[in-house]
Amino acid sequence: MKMGERSFPKTIIDLEKLMRLKTCSACGHPFNLGDPVVLACGAWEGPPRLIHEHEAVYDEITSSYIERKCFEARRGS
Ligand SMILES: [Zn+2]
Repeated sequence: MKMGERSFPKTIIDLEKLMRLKTCSACGHPFNLGDPVVLACGAWEGPPRLIHEHEAVYDEITSSYIERKCFEARRGS
């Protein structure tokens, strides 16, 4: 693992993650090998989870990803 790089919590589904995660918390669909995913906060309880990159928004303020639905809900209220 390289240290000191600007590390966005962004990764790609490998076999280990595929076995462990199975489905995406944001859309409920199964992951596929090679899917770009990000560690994001969302409407679920508990810590950030890996979801498809296109279902998350990068929030500059908190330097973290947020599930798109959750982000829009927060902004709208
Ligand atoms: Zn998804």
